[in-house]
Amino acid sequence: MPTHLPTALARLSDNLFLWSPPLRDTWGLANCLLIAGPSAILVDTPYDRPMSRALIAAAEQVLPPGSRIDTVVNTHANGDHSYGNAFFPDSEIISTHASLEHLCAEPTPQQMHHLSQNLPADDPLGWYMALHFSRFQYTDTETTPPTKTFTGTLQLEAGDTRVELIEVGPAHTAGDLIVHLPENGVVCAGDIVFSEDHPVHWNGPLDHVAKACEKILSLDCPTIVPGHGPVINQTELRTHLDYLRELEGLIHEHYTRGLTASEAADDILDSSFHTHLGLSERVVILAAVEYRHLSGDTSSPDLVRLARGAAEWAFTRRDTVSLPRPRGAQLHAQAE
Ligand SMILES: [Zn+2]
Repeated sequence: MPTHLPTALARLSDNLFLWSPPLRDTWGLANCLLIAGPSAILVDTPYDRPMSRALIAAAEQVLPPGSRIDTVVNTHANGDHSYGNAFFPDSEIISTHASLEHLCAEPTPQQMHHLSQNLPADDPLGWYMALHFSRFQYTDTETTPPTKTFTGTLQLEAGDTRVELIEVGPAHTAGDLIVHLPENGVVCAGDIVFSEDHPVHWNGPLDHVAKACEKILSLDCPTIVPGHGPVINQTELRTHLDYLRELEGLIHEHYTRGLTASEAADDILDSSFHTHLGLSERVVILAAVEYRHLSGDTSSPDLVRLARGAAEWAFTRRDTVSLPRPRGAQLHAQAE
């Protein structure tokens, strides 16, 4: 069993099961939430066929006989939350209308295969993509868009469980939604929330992401499932919100001083900014995205170009940057 695959779903409550890959300091390993019932709902699908097959097998272990996943919800259009749609051909696939429109900006599985397998290792982007994305099998996956879209809110049911989809984008991407389970006291936040690693946000601005976090807090649910990383509580979400507001303030201050986005990111990271979080290089992307908004650039963000900026920062520090590791493992081996 590859180290990035969970061996089973974790039970959050009688009817909720979490697929949570056990690696940190890396990309592409999103949480998926199974809402069990006679007609089950799956929130987000994994990145490739092996992961999707493993999730489907794990779901069969916990779903009641005769139950099937009739509905898939995509919290947004990034591939690590939606490429697996292809393996649910009989399910309705629901996302926001803005998320469907964002699909044109998202790299295809074929582009991800090329970027992670075919670039030279001495090219910073090639090195970075191989490090974080070569574990995925993109060749037998196809982009599968939603079959039903909405704006605002949409109510669903899985048996007796009320499921409320709430559009909160544009924030992480152009079309984010969160999933509110009022009876369970759970919000599935998609990539509005990251735990353990620095977040990455492609659309922004950070103010929209922070406001989406405030929306989650207003729902007053004790359990928040982030897009990546371990489940958190409200106190931890407030800490994450403080992080977002702190970073927003720092980037705006650097912009006002006339520094470039990459100079701002260098300066912020050189000041030991939240070093307990993995993937510091994501701050390079966050600064570049925030600068686009500050300068009034309304063109569609180029995700590969943004990723190249982070890869170049990490490549020049490749002896010290965080590397993929199992959750709970030390960043550096303990001294003997
Ligand atoms: Zn993600």
